[in-house]
Amino acid sequence: MSWDFETDPEFQAKLDWVDAFVRDEVEPLDLLWPDRVFTPLDDKLRQVVDPLKQEVRRQKLWATHLGPELGGEGYGQLKLALLNEILGRSMWAPVVFGCQAPDTGNAEIIAHYGTPEQKDRYLRPLLEGEVFSCYSMTEPQGGSDPTTFKTQALTDGEEWVINGWKFFSSNARTSSFLIVMAVTNPDVSAYQGMSMFLVPTDTPGVNIVRNVGLAGEPDNEGSHALIHYEDVRVPADALLGGEGQAFAIAQTRLGGGRIHHAMRTVGHAKKALDMMCERALSRETQGELLAKKQFVQGYVADSYAQLMQFRLFVLYTAWSIDKHNDYKKVRKDIAAVKVLMPTVLHDIAWRALQVHGALGASNEMPFARMMLGASVLGLADGPTEVHKVTVAKQVLRDYRPSDDLWPSEHLPKKKGAAREKFAEFLEHGVGNM
Ligand SMILES: Cc1cc2nc3c(=O)[nH]c(=O)nc-3n(C[C@H](O)[C@H](O)[C@H](O)COP(=O)(O)OP(=O)(O)OC[C@H]3O[C@@H](n4cnc5c(N)ncnc54)[C@H](O)[C@@H]3O)c2cc1C
Repeated sequence: MSWDFETDPEFQAKLDWVDAFVRDEVEPLDLLWPDRVFTPLDDKLRQVVDPLKQEVRRQKLWATHLGPELGGEGYGQLKLALLNEILGRSMWAPVVFGCQAPDTGNAEIIAHYGTPEQKDRYLRPLLEGEVFSCYSMTEPQGGSDPTTFKTQALTDGEEWVINGWKFFSSNARTSSFLIVMAVTNPDVSAYQGMSMFLVPTDTPGVNIVRNVGLAGEPDNEGSHALIHYEDVRVPADALLGGEGQAFAIAQTRLGGGRIHHAMRTVGHAKKALDMMCERALSRETQGELLAKKQFVQGYVADSYAQLMQFRLFVLYTAWSIDKHNDYKKVRKDIAAVKVLMPTVLHDIAWRALQVHGALGASNEMPFARMMLGASVLGLADGPTEVHKVTVAKQVLRDYRPSDDLWPSEHLPKKKGAAREKFAEFLEHGVGNM
């Protein structure tokens, strides 16, 4: 029997090192260069970031979830979950540790479906942390429903020609290549008729029309591109995986992406709880600490319980992925974790904001940003509603309808069966048993 909640002492020592390193060396980057996280390094920033990445490699913590053949340590998802809880506190930390979204998911599908040439050209530099990538799937007329996608790729001699529009393609402006999902056979269902393409971002016809920002960001300076693909020509070998395989590839990619977001969200929500507790123990009102007020105690208790439930579910799901080595087999739990994630972060960030009073609502504390981040988590990689449907369908698969008019747990029916089973022990006339 093994059902253990301990972390190996050896790995715990590494996590302790990561905790101090992120706090002291990486979090300052968030304050000084918040807009440069996904930008290739210039000479000045290279002097700051490269030594940090080297130190992470020296500690054998670079891209730990990948196997050694891909330059990682092969620690798997559970250890990545424990690591990501710490990295989730900082915007820069995932980049410094070689496990940032969306590149982890993109790397995973190239590793899984790419040819040796594609791995050499796209995967190696990505894993070395030298370039960024973009996943270009959502379209302006619809994101959650792939049957609405219209971007098409048609063959012309030895080439594919891509035409169409994509929306919210994160990091397109700083990426060196895009993974584009396009219809290659409109005569079959969308689930069989779409393919993935690896497209260098500087290919003629890749037109970034504008860089959409999240709420509060300046116009056209966001990182989510509206892209018009206009007669974009790529060679036959730009196809990733087989023709018609895009949907299966997308599921692999998004499965990993979703659970990695959840791991980082544990860290992000923990940061909000830490701030809430510090404030409760620091601020006095009506002659006593906020921590003595029962409403505030309620905030602390609810937040702790919510965070622990979520954290254990995330760790369990990561453990299941390692066990089955197949995202599909863990689909129900990945979707359930995805459903919980925005609410957990939203609720804890909101309570932390409230406990900080006006300061909490100001731009001198990070809570409003965290709450927007929570809303974003309810959309990116698919809306909460769609994931709830997945969870419900998967849960219902394990059940069968009742075999008669009454539910199988209907008490009169069960009592009748129990009476029959023990008839010889029952005295006559105990009618109401
Ligand atoms: C920060 C951020 C980053 C992103 N990055 C990328 C990226 O890099 N690449 C990329 O391709 N996309 C990206 N996206 C897009 C994301 O995948 C889509 O936003 C998402 O799939 C939803 O699509 P949509 O926005 O078109 O919403 P819609 O599909 O229009 O859905 C809108 C709403 O309708 C409801 N709804 C939809 N379907 C159902 C249903 N079946 N049942 C019940 N209700 C439903 C939900 O309330 C949903 O929120 C990103 C989004 C965000 C916010």
